[in-house]
Amino acid sequence: MFRATLLTLFPEMFPGPLGFSLAGDALARGLWSLEAQQLRAHGLGRHRVVDDTPAGGGPGMVMRADVLAAALDAPGDDGRPRLLMSPRGVPFRQALAREWAAGPGLVILCPRFEGVDERVIEGRGLMEVSIGDYVLSGGEVAALAVLDACVRLIPGVMGKPESGVSESFEGGLLEYPQYTRPREWEGRAIPEALLSGDHARIARWRREAAERVTRERRPDLGG
Ligand code: SAH
Repeated sequence: MFRATLLTLFPEMFPGPLGFSLAGDALARGLWSLEAQQLRAHGLGRHRVVDDTPAGGGPGMVMRADVLAAALDAPGDDGRPRLLMSPRGVPFRQALAREWAAGPGLVILCPRFEGVDERVIEGRGLMEVSIGDYVLSGGEVAALAVLDACVRLIPGVMGKPESGVSESFEGGLLEYPQYTRPREWEGRAIPEALLSGDHARIARWRREAAERVTRERRPDLGG
């Protein structure tokens, strides 16, 4: 079973949105599990300190390597990938979601403040992962995004297995436009090919539309 362990100063943020709908139903059905651990449990002294000022000066606070290592070591190394959410990380992609969804789960460290002491990244072999080129205030929202993308790919979570196959990024293409009833809305009709009942024609229309959208919006995907 896919097991998610979050290390965070805000365990109450989980499961959060993952407690609803597809992911929430799957959680209730035991198709995956989630535990959020309080980093402060490993903090130092009476005040459970987890951070300190940056060596060399500068703004903000840095999370201590010794505290984070204690939190990471507590569950033991059971072979799950250990991620550190970070804007400097490898860009999170659908291919990574597929790979991780097929594995035993993830341990995700969600920092706050300016970041973490570099030595814990090296010392514990953490994989830094970014969800995009912008700066969030903490790793929790990024971890939720990564887990959401993984969980929906766990076998049995999505109703129809094929609904994962024709989606954006699978096969290097963005998804084709979707339509539903009514047939006409504010003078806009559903493309005629989709109403033709001709499966080959529908497939061709969708393929061409996906290629056009990808070319226009994300030529870097190389679809
Ligand atoms: N000083 C850091 C940013 C700190 S933001 C820098 O310039 O790189 C605080 C925390 O939010 C980060 O440690 C990281 O865990 C999380 N975070 C912010 N943006 C993120 C992103 N795009 N992807 C993943 N995590 C992010």
